[in-house]
Amino acid sequence: MIIGFDADDTLWHNEDGFQATTRTFEGLLRSWADPDEVGARLFTIEKRNLNRYGYGVKAFTLSMIEAAIDISDGNIDTAHLQMIIELGHHLLDRPAELIDGVVDILEEVGRNHTLMIITKGDLYHQLARIDSSGLKDYFWRTEVVAYKDPATYRELLGRHGVLPRDFVMIGNSLPSDVFPVIEIGGRGIHVPYHVTWAMEHADTDAANSHNAPTLDSLAELPAFLADWV
Ligand SMILES: [Mg+2]
Repeated sequence: MIIGFDADDTLWHNEDGFQATTRTFEGLLRSWADPDEVGARLFTIEKRNLNRYGYGVKAFTLSMIEAAIDISDGNIDTAHLQMIIELGHHLLDRPAELIDGVVDILEEVGRNHTLMIITKGDLYHQLARIDSSGLKDYFWRTEVVAYKDPATYRELLGRHGVLPRDFVMIGNSLPSDVFPVIEIGGRGIHVPYHVTWAMEHADTDAANSHNAPTLDSLAELPAFLADWV
């Protein structure tokens, strides 16, 4: 089998950094609005910009700057803007901190299967993260995509000569890693991360109708796969 792994919040920590940065951003803007309001307005702007910027830290940083100007009614000063830019730099420079046990798990799963990384987001940043993770050698292919929809998975698997029925995708996001793969005839396993970006929440009906297995942690994967594929 070909086993695809999502990267952010599946192989290494990611969303916790975005959430911590959002809390710091809310603190920076506290003289203009309550933290809850700052967070909500930032999220609205991120959502609105998704089709322009795509996913990732650079998109998030631009949205923070736009939100700061908006929330302060144009009164934000350059010292604050500088701090926001630095928050973005800090997130970009964060080395890949691996999820517990990842190396052993990849070693074990890789003994019987061929492994791929399929991650979405900013190309340059994702490639840097893959490099800094030290995990590259475990993977046959690494792919950075703009979207994780059925058409993208179909095209990507076709390009590598992989049939959907021979493919299992592992990831923390139901709408990105699991549902689209099931929709093209593959299989998906959901391994939730302890926090989920609001944009990646799936509605319960969709989750039930797809009937995908959920594991409590990546550590359960080798034993689960041994029975399942
Ligand atoms: Mg993910």
